[in-house]
Amino acid sequence: MYDTIIIGSGFGGSMAAHQLVNAGKKVLLIERGGWVARGPENWTMQGSLELTPNYDKSTPLKVIKGGHKKVMGLYSCVGGPSLFYGGVSFRFREQDFAEGENSWPINYGDLEPFYTKAEQLLSISGEAGIDPTEPFRSRPFPQGPPPLALISQKIKSAAQQIGMNPFQLPLAINYEDKSRNVCESCTTCDTFACAVGAKNDLATMILPKLLEQGMELKTDTVVRQLKAENGKISEVLCFDKKTGKELVFRGKHIVLSAGSLGSPHLLLASGFDKLNPGGKVVGRYLMRHVNAIIFGIFPGVADKEGRFHKQLAILDYYFGHPNAKLKGKLGSLQQVPTPPMGLVQNEVPGPLGKLLSQGVRLLTGLLAIAEDEPQFSNSLTIDPKQKDRYGLPQPVISHAYSKRDLAALKELVKPAKKVLSKAGALTHYVHNIRTFSHAVGTVRMGDDPKTSALDSNCQFRGVDNLFVLDGSFMPTSAAVNPSLTIAANALRVGEVIAGI
Ligand SMILES: Cc1cc2nc3c(=O)[nH]c(=O)nc-3n(C[C@H](O)[C@H](O)[C@H](O)COP(=O)(O)OP(=O)(O)OC[C@H]3O[C@@H](n4cnc5c(N)ncnc54)[C@H](O)[C@@H]3O)c2cc1C
Ligand code: SF4
Repeated sequence: MYDTIIIGSGFGGSMAAHQLVNAGKKVLLIERGGWVARGPENWTMQGSLELTPNYDKSTPLKVIKGGHKKVMGLYSCVGGPSLFYGGVSFRFREQDFAEGENSWPINYGDLEPFYTKAEQLLSISGEAGIDPTEPFRSRPFPQGPPPLALISQKIKSAAQQIGMNPFQLPLAINYEDKSRNVCESCTTCDTFACAVGAKNDLATMILPKLLEQGMELKTDTVVRQLKAENGKISEVLCFDKKTGKELVFRGKHIVLSAGSLGSPHLLLASGFDKLNPGGKVVGRYLMRHVNAIIFGIFPGVADKEGRFHKQLAILDYYFGHPNAKLKGKLGSLQQVPTPPMGLVQNEVPGPLGKLLSQGVRLLTGLLAIAEDEPQFSNSLTIDPKQKDRYGLPQPVISHAYSKRDLAALKELVKPAKKVLSKAGALTHYVHNIRTFSHAVGTVRMGDDPKTSALDSNCQFRGVDNLFVLDGSFMPTSAAVNPSLTIAANALRVGEVIAGI
């Protein structure tokens, strides 16, 4: 019998494990993927998105509305998508927690110590004191910001000339610790695993230490059902992909951290919506941000140095702006680098993709992230008639943006174009992103059991020993990247579970 069984080794699972293992608990971590091999192949086109062996389609997600593809898979590996992510590690802003009827049951002050701890554990580099929306912090960033690439300097200066306050993105990348590989500023970072281990992902920074401390890890093991008796999970049923055998595990507490698509899928597959007083909300309120990349098309090669330049953020429009027609919160702008040629062909299929990939060296851009409203109709549901090879029912995703979501994005595109033009772009190309890489909100927490499945400690109402600790807990999505908030919340609740 384990003290705690954790399902999924992404941000939620790894950070909960950190707290529990350090409190002396006997922890089993179950992960459906394996370790990601490191080597030069990480930086080839076969190292990114659907082409890597770590992109798993063995539980195909059917997207009936709002996707960029009709069938999706997910990154599945030890450390989850953190190995492939962009490393942008933002804190939500104080006001993000107070959103009228969708307000969080906790506030920024409750999370602040855990944001600080997450930043320390992931050794985040960043620049404080410039962004007008910056929330209070009790400790400085563990690493200072790295030098800017020439193209980043150009964009920074352009933004400053039009009255904005650009600052350096908080990044989970190693620049200062010379006892391990430091960043080589390559151009294949976001969507690729780091070949030299300089990205501060969970498989580099968190999990190896926990294994040394005695945590058990079952890789390549798919949890396919949770069984409850008398209001508690009695068994976790799994399928071992290596041996093809069924496995059963038992624990006092179960932490479900299979991600914002994986966790509601497993809850619905196990019939747990029927045990929860607000059960009809399980899988609902799916959010993913409204994202678009605004590419500037420059008269020559945009990034002449050929180096990493996902470095700047502009949050002057975050809570609205006098120049914007739409009032209220708008969102963030973040620099995105010139995309690798193969990535463009992968993401923009057809002749447009081919054409763009030829001219890709002329591009660099800004990513606009607007907050999307939580809507009951945006969902992950299941089709029990279709089963995958593990016996899990077919997950079905349906998502549509509200008019306001789309209007907020439109407002953000305008200042992005202005900055890029000022930096020398001749014209622009806007690429809308319709992936679910920022999916959150599907098993939301709240004070009202009718509209939320989790209480303020992310305990699943109706199943006493079950906690859901991943991006699905969020009542709203804010308008910055989610991983640091998922990590901070898992550290917060991990401490609570350790004390029970
Ligand atoms: C390409 C890309 C770039 C990104 N860049 C950024 C960024 O720069 N900044 C940022 O903040 N966010 C970024 N994100 C989003 C970020 O990665 C996610 O928000 C975050 O990983 C979600 O954490 P989580 O704990 O909810 O779940 P995840 O990290 O998704 O972890 C879930 C884990 O559960 C495992 N699992 C799922 N189902 C089962 C099962 N049935 N049995 C066993 N294991 C299971 C999965 O394999 C996975 O390891 C990016 C995402 C992608 C895909
Ligand atoms: S930019 Fe740095 S952290 Fe990112 S993949 Fe390249 S070397 Fe690794």
